[in-house]
This record gives sequence, structure tokens and C-alpha cells, in this order.
Amino acid sequence: MAEPAQQVDRPLPEHTEVAVIGAGLAGLAAARRLNDAGRDVVVLEATDGVGGRVRSDLVKGYRLDRGFQVLLTAYPELGKQFDVNALDLRRFEPGALVWNGTKMHLVGDPTRRPRTLLKTGLAPVGSITDKVRLLRQRIRLGRTSAPALLRQEDLSTLEALKNDGFSQAMIDGFFRPFVGGIQLDPALATSRRMFDVVLKSLFAGAAAVPAGGMQAIPDQLAGRLPNGTVRLNARVGAVRPGEVALADGRTLTADRVVIAAEGPGAAKLLGLATVGSKSASCVWFGAPTPPITDRYIVVDGTGQGPALNIAVMTNVAPEYGPADSALIAAACPGVDDANLEPAVRKQLRGIWGPTVDSWSHLRTDAIAHGQPKQQPPFAPKQAVSLGDGMFVCGDHRDTASIQGALFSGRRCADAVRAGLG
Ligand SMILES: Cc1cc2nc3c(=O)[nH]c(=O)nc-3n(C[C@H](O)[C@H](O)[C@H](O)COP(=O)(O)OP(=O)(O)OC[C@H]3O[C@@H](n4cnc5c(N)ncnc54)[C@H](O)[C@@H]3O)c2cc1C
Repeated sequence: MAEPAQQVDRPLPEHTEVAVIGAGLAGLAAARRLNDAGRDVVVLEATDGVGGRVRSDLVKGYRLDRGFQVLLTAYPELGKQFDVNALDLRRFEPGALVWNGTKMHLVGDPTRRPRTLLKTGLAPVGSITDKVRLLRQRIRLGRTSAPALLRQEDLSTLEALKNDGFSQAMIDGFFRPFVGGIQLDPALATSRRMFDVVLKSLFAGAAAVPAGGMQAIPDQLAGRLPNGTVRLNARVGAVRPGEVALADGRTLTADRVVIAAEGPGAAKLLGLATVGSKSASCVWFGAPTPPITDRYIVVDGTGQGPALNIAVMTNVAPEYGPADSALIAAACPGVDDANLEPAVRKQLRGIWGPTVDSWSHLRTDAIAHGQPKQQPPFAPKQAVSLGDGMFVCGDHRDTASIQGALFSGRRCADAVRAGLG
């Protein structure tokens, strides 16, 4: 894994061409683009590491991401901003194992894995008509560009699925846990524009994690910045054109200021309209043996949660756990609750039986702001230039995703560069 460029002991310069506030993916992408263009940049990050919402920790020999997250290999920014080979990606199988309360059923992607056709066709998850509709969606999304999908008529995901003719059983048993899990939105209230670009990416590539954990993503971006560019434990308390004031009293003048804080933080610093939050929790377990051997995400289609998605991370990336052990992530989208472990363990016992009692609880993540709410009317590509040399970027200006944050940072850097001449 690349060493992140960060130096906390060097004094802050009095002046920089561009001050970027926040070392999440958007801030790092903006800093990289500006640095590559020969601009002098300082990134001020409030916490003790880079990555923002994309971070990982080593706990008892297991690699735990902060909340269950995946990188979709079809994200266009991936090829533009990364050495993808160096991320050493480990891929999930396309599709999902759906738990219906009595049995696990495979809903695969027969267009990529023809051997899954029969099982997928026979799985009692929705009807045959639902599966034909899903195939039709795949064809439509494959033929439509992401920008066109982001301009189409806006509805909630739930309304869109109903309009497209999917049965309630398919919506509740498959879409709600699967896509609701990815969008941290079991109510399926998110804009169909977002839903369609996520589904397009899922169909076009794989869901993956770097062997070294999701942290490898921001680390690679930060590792390409000159040493000392990123200042950790540097919380910004106030901004105004040409000046940044840290919470500890230090100040820095800058020709341009880029606010790359998450939506609610950016709104507070800039006095902009508040950004609503979708929450997420994740309960992590270590086990002596994996409950399944496949590389599929398991979705609980019973609606009896709290976990909607379960992933045996070590089946996909053995590097996520010590030898002869399994790491299980139980993702509970839409919930911000650090005390979910007993309820999740009970739920998983209902699926895999008493063996679950031998699993050790490693950590529960409770994340109040997982993603910005992006319900209809949803307009991506919001203005990044605020005037007076002030700029803003992040997933709340584009799409609520890793792709959206990276794109937003790059787009914002181009706007900054245009202004600097
Ligand atoms: C549990 C979970 C699951 C997710 N699943 C997926 C997924 O599967 N696929 C996907 O594509 N996306 C997923 N996402 C969304 C994705 O992680 C985010 O959209 C993306 O990381 C946002 O990046 P960002 O740079 O816009 O914001 P952030 O990552 O929030 O970065 C903002 C940074 O600004 C810093 N900051 C804030 N205020 C200040 C201040 N005053 N001074 C200095 N620094 C400050 C913060 O500490 C932070 O480092 C998920 C998110 C979560 C939480």
C-alpha cells in the first residue's frame, strides 16, 4: 500500500495558492489534479487519516472498513485517477444469494455466468416475468449513457420499479435489500437517476474491494502528493475568501479555497442549505469457518433485518483476515445504531444456525452521515464555484458514491485552474 503523503509536525505555510479542506476522496482528487497542474496546494484534514468515509482499520488481525463498502470497477473515474492494478482488487461474483426465510437462492447474472441461468430462472425470488424485466433493464441501461440516465424523468426508485412493472415480491425480496443496501436506502426513496447509474455500473463491471482494504483507495491518491501536502488533525473552524482559520487558532491565506468536507460539514462552513443524511451501520464478526464458501453478497429478502446485506469478506479477499478465519460484514443500511450486535447475531443465527454463537464480535460501525440524501428532484453536477475564489466539492455536489466524489473533486479542480489562469 502506498504511504500517504502527510506530515503533521511541519509548520503550516502562511500562504498557499489553493487550500483544500477535507482529505476525503473529493478533496484528494482535487488536490491531485491541481498538483499535477503545477499548483501549490495544502490539504487540511480534521481527523487523523486520509479517506473521509473510505477508511479501514486493523482490528485483532482483521481488516475492517468503516462500514461495508464496495468499489464498482465500472466507475469511469477509476481508470482516470488510479493505477488500478496497484489497488489489487478482489471481486465479488455478479448477482446475489437471496435468503427468503427458509433457503438461500441464487440470483446470478446469466449473461456473464451462463451456468447460473437455470438456478436464477428457478429461484423463487419474484416471478419469471420479473427476471425477464431485469434482463430488459440490463439491455436498456447498457445502451444508455450515464449522463442521459442522470437527465431522465425523475421519480423515486420505488415508483420507478413499480412503473417498470416489477412485482411487490421482487421489490421487497430483491431490490430493497440489494440496491437499498448499496444506496443506504431501504425505503427506496432515492432518485431513480441515481439508482439507474448504480445498476448500470453493477451490470457493466464487478463489485470489488482492494486486497489491502478500502483504505488503499485514498492512500493511493494521497501517496502521489508531495510530502507535507496533507496536514492531518487540522480541523478548519471558519473560511472566508482568501483565508482559512483552523479551530486551533492557526490561519492560512490562500488564493483559492476548496471546501471538500462532507455535505453537512460543508453546509455549516459555507452557510449553504443543509444536506440530508442517509445513515448506515455495520456489525463485523470473526469466525473460525465461513458460513458459505461463495463470493456472492447475501441479501436478506425477508424484511426482518436489521442486516440487509451480509458479505463473507475473506471469501472475496482472504487478506481481510488472519489465516484460517472468516470475516463477516453484516450491513444495516438506513440505521445509525452502535448497539445492533445482539439483533444482528439473532438474525444471522436464523440463517446459519447455532454456529453463529461461536463468532466473535469485532466492532459495530454506526455512521450518521453515510451518504447525502438524493431524492427527487435530484440534479447532479451542482455548481462548484461559489464566487470570490471559493469552491465546493464532494459527493453532495454530484452523485452519492465513490465515483461521484472523485468526479466532483476533478471537476472542481478544473474550475479552480480555469480561474487561476
Ligand atoms: C457505510 C457506507 C457505505 C458506502 N457504500 C458505498 C459503496 O458501496 N459504493 C460507493 O460508491 N459509495 C459508497 N459510499 C459513499 C462513499 O463512501 C462517499 O460518497 C464518498 O466517500 C464521499 O467522499 P467525499 O470526499 O465527498 O466526502 P468525505 O469522505 O466525507 O470526506 C470529507 C472529509 O472532510 C473532512 N472534514 C470535514 N469537515 C472538516 C473541517 N472542518 N476541517 C477539516 N476537514 C474536514 C472529513 O474529516 C473528511 O475526511 C458509502 C458510504 C458509507 C459511509
